[in-house]
Amino acid sequence: MNEWHELDNRYMMSTVKRIPIAIERAEGNYLYDTEGKKYLDLFTGLAVNILGHLHPRIVQAIEEQGHRFLHISNLFLNPPAIQLAKRLVEHTLPGGKVFYTNSGAEATEAAIKLISKWISKTKSHKNGIVVLKNSFHGRTLGALRLTRQPSVYQDFPQLSFPIYEVEVNEIEELEELCIKEQPAAILVEPVLGAGGVITLSSEYLMAIRRICNEQQMIFALDEIQTGIGRTGKLFAYQHFSFQPDLILFAKGIGGGLPLGGIIAASHLANVFQYGDHGTTFAPSPLSAALGNAVLDVLLEEGQLERGRQAAEELWDQLTALQKKYPQILHYIDGKGMMLGIRTHLNSDEVQQLQQYLLQEGILVNVTAKTVIRLLPPLTLSAAEIDFFINKLEHYISYRLSVKED
Ligand SMILES: *Cc1c(COP(=O)(O)O)cnc(C)c1O
Repeated sequence: MNEWHELDNRYMMSTVKRIPIAIERAEGNYLYDTEGKKYLDLFTGLAVNILGHLHPRIVQAIEEQGHRFLHISNLFLNPPAIQLAKRLVEHTLPGGKVFYTNSGAEATEAAIKLISKWISKTKSHKNGIVVLKNSFHGRTLGALRLTRQPSVYQDFPQLSFPIYEVEVNEIEELEELCIKEQPAAILVEPVLGAGGVITLSSEYLMAIRRICNEQQMIFALDEIQTGIGRTGKLFAYQHFSFQPDLILFAKGIGGGLPLGGIIAASHLANVFQYGDHGTTFAPSPLSAALGNAVLDVLLEEGQLERGRQAAEELWDQLTALQKKYPQILHYIDGKGMMLGIRTHLNSDEVQQLQQYLLQEGILVNVTAKTVIRLLPPLTLSAAEIDFFINKLEHYISYRLSVKED
């Protein structure tokens, strides 16, 4: 056990099983530990560092905004945040408006409050929110109600607003429920993240849009993990031809700093009035300045397109590996730079694989116990893809040779 590991155990609550390496610095697609060892970062701080670490445009934005002001409160006009809101709205739901938060869970809270306010304002008879089995929408108590993973919610108070849990991609079940129970909204992740990287079918997403139109429900999309270029578009729904009513964002938008929020379409843009919601810190001017830098790099400097090509290369190579070793690699789900590798290994063996990759200098995440989740930066290079694929293949052939013995 190294010194930092020991101090961590002594002074920090153990809410996460930490990878026992102490990080000294990070640059580009690599983390460096205090022993000087280098790691290829294939999960980008859980889908945050979409441009890798210390991208020059991010560093420039820190320096510029860092010399102007860091915090002013919501009582003043905040140019970097206004500019970012304008760009987010113009790229998603023109005519809509943004409410900022400091995190993803708070974006979910804001969505719950906006939906509740909409119900009371329109004197709707509708009530409750539909969510998917195994969804993840955050860990504060309101958001936790919508997070349908028993291990995450079971020991905590359940707020009493009604929710309905439905199976992923089951259109009939959803439609029957919406007609019978008259919920006010449905909230889904386009690709379930912490639930194991499960992609919603385009038919399902289109059906949600149709049902919400027919039943006058709010279609809310949690793009906290899938947004900001992660799947190859600015937001994942932009692969399809529909528009949601509400978009939740966080993770990648702050360029590494905390920032989140919701974008409401025009018919919901004025649901919140003075005093209905607020927070002291959000939007942090520095986070917002970094948000603008992230959008500059993605949209104006072509990184979204280059990231899409890198993701295609990664998918091609992983798919080829899966075809070569179907006895180990079951299938790969996800979209763009969000991949869930499902194997025929049990959870101990998957952890062993994660350990092996760590030793070889590659960081991958495991979610839903056995799904190897990759959330690489859009800046991943062809050489880095080869490096990862080679190491993965090496482990697979080793496993197969052990099994044969
Ligand atoms: C991470 C995540 C959240 C919660 O965001 P925090 O910033 O951790 O509160 C909510 N929804 C989804 C889909 C996420 O991936």
